[in-house]
Order: sequence, then C-alpha cells, then structure tokens
Amino acid sequence: SFVLNAWDLYRFYHTAESEVLAVRGVSLKVTAGEMVAVMGPSGSGKSTLLNCLSGIDEPDGGYVEIMGQRITRKAERERAAIRAKHIGILLQKENLIPHLTVKENICLQMALAGQIDYKRIEELLGELGMIERQYAYPRQLSGGENARAGLAVALASDPALLLADEPTGEVDRKTEELILDLLAAKCKQGLTAITSTHSLIIAARADRIVALQDGRINDAG
Ligand code: ADP
Ligand code: ADP
Repeated sequence: SFVLNAWDLYRFYHTAESEVLAVRGVSLKVTAGEMVAVMGPSGSGKSTLLNCLSGIDEPDGGYVEIMGQRITRKAERERAAIRAKHIGILLQKENLIPHLTVKENICLQMALAGQIDYKRIEELLGELGMIERQYAYPRQLSGGENARAGLAVALASDPALLLADEPTGEVDRKTEELILDLLAAKCKQGLTAITSTHSLIIAARADRIVALQDGRINDAG
C-alpha cells in the first residue's frame, strides 16, 4: 500500500487574461521511506502539485489518497484534519509563528494534530539539536536554527508524509546538508518525503526524481 497515491491530477488557474494549466495529468505513487525530489523550472507546477497533494488546494481533476484515505473532493475542514494527522509541511520560510517560542510552535502543531506529547517534544528537540534554543523566538534564531526549528514543527505530529516546498532555497550549503542528513535519517525510519527543489544536492540524495515540465511529468527527465 502507498503512503501517497495521486492519480491524473489537473489544476487550472482562471484569470481575467488567461487560463493557466498548472498541472496536467500528473500521477504519482510513493511508498513508505521514499525520498522523492520534484524538479522543474520556475512555473512548471511544483508548488501547485504539492498544494494539491497536501489538500491545501483542490485539484480540478483527479484524486489524491494519503495513507489509503482520500483527501480530494472533501470539505476544507476535512482536508485540514487529514493533513494534520498524516502530513508535515516544510516551507522555505514562515514555518514558525513569530510570537511563539520554538517549543510553543511545536506544541501548537501537536495540538492541531490531536494531542501534545511532552516526551516527544524533548525527543524532537534532541534529534534536531534544539534543546538549548527551545525558549527562543524565531527572530532570535540563526538561519540554520530556523531551518531545524521549521523541521521540528513539520515533524511534530509524527507524520507519514513530509511535503517540502523548496526547503533549502534560502539556506547556506552547510544548513542544506544538515537538513538533508536529518531528512535521510527520518526516511530510514520510514518517513516519506516529497521535496520540490532546484537543488542538485537534494536531487543527488533522493531515491527518485520527478521531473516536471509545463505541468506534466517528463518521463525522459
Ligand atoms: P513552480 O512551483 O514550479 O514555480 P507554480 O505551481 O508556482 O510553479 O506555478 C505553475 C503555473 O501556474 C505558473 O504558470 C504560475 O504562474 C501559475 N500559477 C500559480 N499559482 C497561480 C495562481 N494563484 N493564479 C494564477 N496562476 C497561478
Ligand atoms: P514558486 O516558484 O516558489 O512556486 P512563485 O513565485 O511561482 O513561487 O509563486 C508564488 C505565489 O504566487 C504562489 O502562491 C502562487 O500561487 C502565486 N502565483 C504564481 N503565479 C501567479 C499568477 N500568474 N497569478 C497569480 N498568482 C500567482
């Protein structure tokens, strides 16, 4: 069985001037422990695809199942519940709520997923090397600490699937390697990660590369 099963996804954007076919007929099956890199030029549909997979956005066609549970064609509230339970989201920035400490940010994410587990918070902070910085506010963190705290929040609910949209777009090489090491270790333990990226460093570490071109998977890529 698949952690993620997406079938024939379509997403159009209708604007006053034009109609953009952002995702056209994308199908994707991903199993436990896999690390997938979604690559493609700017505008090829990477963000749109990830938003459809997470249920943040509803595709115009096709369906998505997460852990055997359909997330598409459901009310936003139901999609949010499935997302909170099974999916962690890592963005380039703004993973943290600025007026909450690192620990409070993690607590909040756990609360959204159902329950706060203080033992798990300690574990997470330890794994990510953030025990000493748990009472810091996001603006007090260095770039690397910010990235690690963002990952802690993304992993707070112990998700089966991590969706990361260009997570290392704005960090230095050392931080990128750190995030990748942490992700690879998590994938060894069974986490599934789908990462959109321009980074060849991430691509080299991925089990599989999905190449997007004009909203389609480019099989030659
Ligand atoms: P990528 O993440 O690969 O840069 P996106 O998914 O952001 O690609 O964008 C895919 C295409 O859809 C682009 O042509 C982009 O301009 C268009 N697009 C994305 N979001 C919107 C939107 N909210 N409204 C209209 N067009 C959009
Ligand atoms: P990325 O390349 O990282 O996906 P973009 O710069 O393409 O980022 O898009 C940033 C945001 O702008 C996205 O939320 C996307 O939905 C929105 N967007 C992108 N293209 C358009 C567009 N043509 N019209 C309206 N919104 C857009």
